[in-house]
Amino acid sequence: MSGNLRTLSQKVWDNHVVHEEQGAPTLLYIDLHLVHEVTSPQAFSGLRERGLKVRRPDLTVATTDHSIPTTDRSLPILDPIAAKQVAQLEANCKEFGIPCYGMHSNNQGIVHVIGPELGFTQPGMTVVCGDSHTATHGAFGALAFGIGTSEVENVLATQCLLQRPSKTFNVRVEGSLKAGVSAKDIILALIAEIGIGGGTGTVMEYTGSAIRALDMEARMTVCNMSIEGGARAGLIAPDDTTFSYLHGRPFAPKGAAWDEAVARWSQLPTDNGATFDREVYIDADKLEPMITYGTNPGMGIPITGVLPDPSSIGNTMERESVEKALHYMGLEAGKPILGRPVNVVFIGSCTNSRISDLRSAAAVLKGRKVNPNTRVMVVPGSQEVKRQAIAEGLPDIFRAAGCDWREPGCSMCIAMNGDQLQPGEYSVSTSNRNFEGRQGKGGRTFLASPMTAAASAVTGVVTDVRTLL
Ligand code: SF4
Repeated sequence: MSGNLRTLSQKVWDNHVVHEEQGAPTLLYIDLHLVHEVTSPQAFSGLRERGLKVRRPDLTVATTDHSIPTTDRSLPILDPIAAKQVAQLEANCKEFGIPCYGMHSNNQGIVHVIGPELGFTQPGMTVVCGDSHTATHGAFGALAFGIGTSEVENVLATQCLLQRPSKTFNVRVEGSLKAGVSAKDIILALIAEIGIGGGTGTVMEYTGSAIRALDMEARMTVCNMSIEGGARAGLIAPDDTTFSYLHGRPFAPKGAAWDEAVARWSQLPTDNGATFDREVYIDADKLEPMITYGTNPGMGIPITGVLPDPSSIGNTMERESVEKALHYMGLEAGKPILGRPVNVVFIGSCTNSRISDLRSAAAVLKGRKVNPNTRVMVVPGSQEVKRQAIAEGLPDIFRAAGCDWREPGCSMCIAMNGDQLQPGEYSVSTSNRNFEGRQGKGGRTFLASPMTAAASAVTGVVTDVRTLL
């Protein structure tokens, strides 16, 4: 920090300090606690055992996303564990007085899609959820952390969280994205450059003309994967784009409260002259569509690139890790990634299941057929995204192309309810994790943008979307 000049994340932090003590974690107040069915059951049991109530049910919101099937919602959930989790969340929320967008709610959806969509997520807030990709909400200038189950219990009971301050990391992206290149390519390029541990101990702030030019959904895509670069959180300063997105949303402030909120939110951006602990620069003009080839999100290359040769990597750990990844993925060093056969394409997840993602995939698929050897799933992020897509005729485009149009949920991002790869199968996936078995035991995942996924669906091989535009 320079004098009293502060960055966005420092301002949000300072505004939420409840108690500080030298050498101890800081107690932070939490403005919004998002809850889902997988990480909450133990937390609610803990409250029950201790005879505690939820401190602020009005600042807590629940939805079902991880365990629900993406097939017809009138059918029962076949997986008994998933069925129990979904039923238990609804029962727990009823018992503790928490609003819950359950399996049959009109507002059900992936937790990181519905929070912003309903206007719960707002600039300057502290937001937590028992899910790694909570950083998504940072797109609004909120300080948003993924937390563990015991922390979920603590936040339910106290509305506070113990945290240690992070270093600040400026990810400056200047210039303009070319046709076929999107927000997903910015974040994949960043993680390829800094590695999965590159942001450890930091909160990233995304700045620069290329970030300012992104709409809110694209900003969410960028912030969503901050954790994959090792950062505790990632955020973007609120501006007119943020305010227009939020205005009129069901839980956004209204009337005079709206004007007051905008005045307050306008004070949040990083002060001119404030310094960051670390900076990295990305030239948006030079970015190509990106794709991962390996088993962590940092193993990414421009789509026209060739697979790395481990023998040219000096660092032993890194070399062994690339060797192991290429072996698991069944890929050969030094070869292009373009043209690799693709068995499955998954368009969905909290990274890329919003309406603009579906529009960009539909624009590529319109009037085309998917390759007969490739299974394609399109999974909207929420009921609202689904309604909007229907209003725009997108499911017709997807179905006419031969895609499977599903109900909202996490789906193949985590291989739930049979939405998964078979051993050895390859997917091009718009999700955020490509670890061994993430999309099904023995499955192999290439992470990419919705445009790249749609282009690969058409050809049945890894494809540069620019050749189809
Ligand atoms: S879509 Fe995937 S990454 Fe996102 S919340 Fe669901 S399981 Fe987690």
